[in-house]
Amino acid sequence: MGKILIFGHKNPDTDSITSSLVLANLERKMGREVESCRLGKINKESEYVLRYVGMEAPRLLEDVEDGAEVMLVDHASNKESIDNLDNTKILKIIDHHKVALNTGYPLYYRAEPVGCTETILYKLYQENGVEIDKKIAILMLSAIISDTLLFKSPTCTPEDIKVAKELAKIAEIDCDTYGLEMLKAGTDLTGLSIPEILNLDAKEIDLKKVKSVIAQVNTASIADVMAIQADLETGMQKIMEEKQLDLFMLLITDIVNSDSQVIVLGKRADLVETSYGVKLENNTALLKGVVSRKKQVVPILTENV
Ligand code: MG
Ligand code: MG
Ligand code: MG
Repeated sequence: MGKILIFGHKNPDTDSITSSLVLANLERKMGREVESCRLGKINKESEYVLRYVGMEAPRLLEDVEDGAEVMLVDHASNKESIDNLDNTKILKIIDHHKVALNTGYPLYYRAEPVGCTETILYKLYQENGVEIDKKIAILMLSAIISDTLLFKSPTCTPEDIKVAKELAKIAEIDCDTYGLEMLKAGTDLTGLSIPEILNLDAKEIDLKKVKSVIAQVNTASIADVMAIQADLETGMQKIMEEKQLDLFMLLITDIVNSDSQVIVLGKRADLVETSYGVKLENNTALLKGVVSRKKQVVPILTENV
C-alpha cells in the first residue's frame, strides 16, 4: 500500500494547498506515512505564499488507484474531489463546508463552521501537543487571511481571528501588511487565458434542480476585470454549453471595498435578480457587500429557486 494521500478540492485555493501541507506535517509527526497532493494548478496567491515560506507545492495528483487511502481537507463532496473518490478509502476529512458526502463506512470526520480549514487544524495541533513552527504558522495564517478576505468576510468567526492572532505571533508577521500583499498577488491575471480565469475558483453547484457554476475572481479594480467582460461572456457561454448549465454566475470581488460585480448568464439568470433585488443590465450588476459564495450566494440563490 502506498502512502496516504492528502488533498484539498479541485481548482485549489490557498486553504486547500496549505491545509494539505499542514495536515501532512501533523500526520508525519504522529508517525503516519503521508504525501501532500493537489488537484489542480497553483494559483498566484498560493504561489506567493509558497515562495514566501520557501516550500515546494504539493504534488499534482492526476488520478488515484482503487483502494488508495486518502484524507480530504477543505472539501467534503464528490464533485469537488478526485474523480475516483468513490473507490478510495477515506480515512479522514477536515473541513468547514456543508457535509455533501456519504462514505457508508466509519471515518475520522472533523467539520466546524469556521472560516477556514486551518482554524480546525490549529486545534488539532494543540490537541495532539504538536508544536507549530514558523513556516507552518505562515501557511496556516495565509489560508485564514485568504478564506476570510482579511477577516472581512461574513464567514469569518471569532475563532478564526483568535487563531490568526496566535499564528501571527509565531510567524512574526503583521497580518494587514502581509495579508494585503498576498491577496493582491492573487488578483494578478496577467498571462492567464479566459478559461483559466473562469476556472480559478469555480464551483459546480446544483441549486436544487438548477445546474450552476458559480465562479469568483478577486480584484483590486473591478473596472480592470470588467474591461474584458465580452471575452469573459464568450468563455462562460462555452462552458455553459459544455456542461449544459442553467446558470453561470461570475463574481468579481473587490478585496479592498468588499463588494462584488457579477456577470450572470443562463436561462435562470433571473434567480440573481430576485435574490438580490437587482436588475441585470448588460448581464451585470453590483452586489454591495457580497463577498462570500458560501454564505451570501449559494444559500440565497437556493432559497429563491
Ligand atoms: Mg477552499
Ligand atoms: Mg477553505
Ligand atoms: Mg474560497
